[in-house]
Amino acid sequence: MSDRNVIVLGAGLAGLGFARHYPGARVFEAEAAPGGHARSHEFAGAWFDRGAHICHSQDKAWLDLVCAQTPLNEMTKSVVLNHKAGHWFAYPVQNHLFDLPQADREAALADFLAAQDHYRGREPQNYEEWCRFQYGDFLVENFYRLYTEKYWHVPMAELATDWLGGRLLPSQVANIVAGAAGHQEEKQAVFRTFRYPKRGGFFAMLERLADGVDVRLNKRAVRVDAEKRIVAFADGTEEAYETLVSTMPLPQLAAMIPSAPARVREAASKLRALRQYCVNFVVDRVELSPANWFYIYDPDIAVSRVSFPFSLSGEASDLTAVQAEIFLPSDARPDEETLRDQAVADMGRLLMFEAADVVAAEIRGYSHSYVVSDLNRAPAVALVREWLHSQGIETAGLFGNWHYVWSDRAYASGQTLAHNMCGRT
Ligand SMILES: Cc1cc2nc3c(=O)[nH]c(=O)nc-3n(C[C@H](O)[C@H](O)[C@H](O)COP(=O)(O)OP(=O)(O)OC[C@H]3O[C@@H](n4cnc5c(N)ncnc54)[C@H](O)[C@@H]3O)c2cc1C
Repeated sequence: MSDRNVIVLGAGLAGLGFARHYPGARVFEAEAAPGGHARSHEFAGAWFDRGAHICHSQDKAWLDLVCAQTPLNEMTKSVVLNHKAGHWFAYPVQNHLFDLPQADREAALADFLAAQDHYRGREPQNYEEWCRFQYGDFLVENFYRLYTEKYWHVPMAELATDWLGGRLLPSQVANIVAGAAGHQEEKQAVFRTFRYPKRGGFFAMLERLADGVDVRLNKRAVRVDAEKRIVAFADGTEEAYETLVSTMPLPQLAAMIPSAPARVREAASKLRALRQYCVNFVVDRVELSPANWFYIYDPDIAVSRVSFPFSLSGEASDLTAVQAEIFLPSDARPDEETLRDQAVADMGRLLMFEAADVVAAEIRGYSHSYVVSDLNRAPAVALVREWLHSQGIETAGLFGNWHYVWSDRAYASGQTLAHNMCGRT
């Protein structure tokens, strides 16, 4: 047990990762249960996550921690598709040009090969250039721009490249060329193999992480007095701390510290994340698609990604559970019933079922999902976190560090911070 009075805001994976490795830490969570964005819930006999979640981690320590006691569906060959204008083709599009109509395939391949020549050695300054340098003009204009604007709601040129891998390897170039000449089995995608609990949704493999952790629920922090080192909660209570570890969204944290300088507040206020809606429904059909999930490029359909929870869990059923995800700018406030009904109707057209086949449907909204990695993000995050650190406030996790990470890395970011702080105290 550390003598230091450390409190943690948020019992998502980062908060739990910290608390499990920092003896004596107390965790204050706004919601009525731990788990944060990794939680799952049951609806109409199926389990749904907050957007499709799968475990594709290769981190042995993490897998040992979360896999041991949960019966898992071990997927060795995931099926991921794309849809655009009535056509279905394998994901990612550049590896499967053969699936496109012939004229598109030829144009895409010609532009791809031209790009390899034309942009060789040039460093992309933003996501648009990155895509253009890698894939060529045709794929940018007909696929990547459409999807970016629909999903990220930001022009491609405003996005950074810090969330992408490096340049294409020569072997990937050869794959793309081969994929234009004939059907290729997808081997590259990181999620070709994955694990998913047989029952209980993604969170079933994580829920034990909260065991033994001192988590106080329904404790929403609303104000931090950084000078006196006191957190105030929505229920009127207060807690003093020596070090505060925050995994709650960085802009909200900065906004609740009255002593934060204007430059810190301003930098934090520019950070963007997407608002997410999940339309969860069950259809009276044994199967609707061979895919585990698919992406939709059509600009006139609000849904971006669709997954099939029973196909992830491997559960046998006469019904099909569907999750349709919609991503909107953070300030969007659509009419939720209309959004739900339109999403179900659009999926009915794509997957060929009738309204009468739908057993039950719900919509759930989440204020934060993906962090928008625009050109402003990295410098703004560095400035805000540096000031917080000077005040005895550390951050961890997806929204604490405002940088997209998978679940294993979210946990690891809390764990690493704990180890660093234990070394320091
Ligand atoms: C759409 C989507 C799909 C994803 N898919 C995958 C996937 O397939 N595989 C994978 O491994 N990972 C996936 N992830 C990533 C994974 O969900 C996250 O990395 C992880 O859940 C983040 O954990 P966290 O603790 O950093 O944040 P969170 O889970 O957000 O935890 C933060 C906690 O802080 C609490 N909080 C907020 N405000 C306050 C406050 N004022 N006071 C107190 N508490 C507060 C919140 O309630 C929450 O519990 C996905 C993420 C998203 C958004």
